[in-house]
Amino acid sequence: MITSILELKGIGAARAKAFSRLGASTTLDLLRYYPTDYEDRTKCTDIRSLLPGQSHCVRAMVAESPRESRIRDGLSLTKLTAVDETGRLFLTFFNSPYVKNSLELGKSYVFYGKVEINGNRTCMTNPIFEAPHHQGSSTGRIVPIYGLTKGLTQYNVRAAVAQALEIHAVAHDDPLWQIHVPDDMDNLQNARNTLAYNELYALALKLAKLKSERMAKAGNTFLPLGADEFETSLPFKLTNAQKQAIAEVDYEVSNGALMARLVQGDVGSGKTMIAAYAGLRACRGGFQAALMAPTELLASQHYTTLEPLFDKWGVKSCLLTGRITPANKARLQKEIADGRIDFIVGTHAIISKNVEFSNLALIITDEQHRFGVSQRETLQAKGNDAHTLYMSATPIPRTLALLLYGELDVSVINELPPGRTPVKTYAVNELYRGRIDNFIQKTVDDGGQVFVVCPAIEGQEAVDIADIGTVHERLSAVFPQFEIGLAHGKLKLKDRAIVMERFSKGELPVLVATTVIEVGVDVPNANLMVVENAERFGLAQLHQLRGRVGRGRRESFCVLFNGGGGELAAKRLKILEDSNNGFEIAELDLQLRGSGDFFGTRQHGLPELNLPRGYDITVIQKARIDAENTIGGQAPIPPIV
Ligand code: ADP
Ligand code: MG
Repeated sequence: MITSILELKGIGAARAKAFSRLGASTTLDLLRYYPTDYEDRTKCTDIRSLLPGQSHCVRAMVAESPRESRIRDGLSLTKLTAVDETGRLFLTFFNSPYVKNSLELGKSYVFYGKVEINGNRTCMTNPIFEAPHHQGSSTGRIVPIYGLTKGLTQYNVRAAVAQALEIHAVAHDDPLWQIHVPDDMDNLQNARNTLAYNELYALALKLAKLKSERMAKAGNTFLPLGADEFETSLPFKLTNAQKQAIAEVDYEVSNGALMARLVQGDVGSGKTMIAAYAGLRACRGGFQAALMAPTELLASQHYTTLEPLFDKWGVKSCLLTGRITPANKARLQKEIADGRIDFIVGTHAIISKNVEFSNLALIITDEQHRFGVSQRETLQAKGNDAHTLYMSATPIPRTLALLLYGELDVSVINELPPGRTPVKTYAVNELYRGRIDNFIQKTVDDGGQVFVVCPAIEGQEAVDIADIGTVHERLSAVFPQFEIGLAHGKLKLKDRAIVMERFSKGELPVLVATTVIEVGVDVPNANLMVVENAERFGLAQLHQLRGRVGRGRRESFCVLFNGGGGELAAKRLKILEDSNNGFEIAELDLQLRGSGDFFGTRQHGLPELNLPRGYDITVIQKARIDAENTIGGQAPIPPIV
């Protein structure tokens, strides 16, 4: 039964629209809209034991009638004190005239709020309060905290979820109930684990099935090549890790099996050469191969690198993007259909739009973390039993990789080409703002370029988060002499491409951007990256981001602003100061944050997954092993390479 949320009490067109921004248009969506956090308001604390900076529940008696005073137009204060046997609590409310009628002298209430100590006064500002006999909605229980968007309050979401639980007759002991309305912390943890397990198991099962189907199929055999022969056409020697990956790619395409392989390697580890090698093997034997990149810029960078290399081997390549003229496009499409072009570089459009291949035998997808499971499935289906090769720079811990890429075989490139200097990384706080501005100035004066990266803010409570427009404005004011570019996901694709290209050509010294720049963009002249609110990012993602600098000859730097993320954030960011190894970073990050957060921010590139935060990491492995055992009986044993 699917019910539109418009049928719920308290939801009209405007609120429904706000809910739909959170992905919740039906009551079922609401049930799956898990809290991002919880506040344990089950226990009351003595006033004497309150800790500054923390949120507490206090049961106290109103000791003096609330006094309201007007400070200035539009600002009124209501003040009172409340007491328990251990001390006195000073309460202040802003613009809350109702308080003086709601709080009665001599009566007890439960107050919940953040504690401050001013001198010897223990204070709360704008606490939530309830009479003890009314307890249970905002205090006296574990209260869920939801991600919000403009036009919605916590109260709105809680009320809507409560109705959804009722409409769907969710039982009190159902994990769905307990994730939204936990009885206690144990129940909450069990609910998290069960919901995560179910979700991960379903995914793992699907992938294990895909894998067993693939292994029963045959693929084309390519002409032999070999790393050594390939190397003769390169201006450098392949690293051992590249050679190893090449040997692994060789396996299926040499023996009639069907390849679906993920090549995972840190930014700059030289994955493009693996793609080139596989492409050459396919094309030299008369097959066609396609290389798809997530952006036009990246596609054209790949084409620039690969076209001359392929030319040396007599393999004809082309670049097919949305930017070429219709006449050229028609010509290229014809040549592709006739088999006159062997190697096609482009964006994802090349496989989804009406491009007819004559005998496509290999599909390479670059920066595959952008493509979730369903895209991978589509690709397998569309590819008509073509071999597939995925390139990804997202270093994720092994346990996760085994599950998320369950249908693929995985090759790892764990070595960078020689002569790279690591990006010097500094985790700083706001006190360093002036110094970093000077550093930006100096970098540009010396002929370098600067990325300033902000977290995307859609759908979050964005109070303290660097907003990309604000950052752009501030920098434009600080550096009136520079033109400062702006790139984010809301720009039209075409406009964004223009900005990126201008930055890439060196026409813009500074670029303020969201993570749209994360994916493979190559601007060797950029040598400083400043990340605002770095605590908002996953470490793996930050690591990948900073790989955008340090690509040229200049010494490169990355500055991570901790925008009030506290001690844990400082500790996490310190990991990036100390390590340049993406896999090590991912592993440490997982340990520090737990897997809930790892997925929580949707950096995993799997929008299909809806996981609660904070489930136990062991669930991941269990789900995968159970799924493999389920399929196991039917599946052939995978080849060992
Ligand atoms: P990524 O793994 O991030 O896709 P690329 O394939 O873009 O890395 O390679 C990064 C740079 O390193 C490119 O300029 C490429 O030409 C260079 N490169 C790749 N392999 C080697 C190697 N074995 N020795 C030296 N430079 C290499
Ligand atoms: Mg790459």
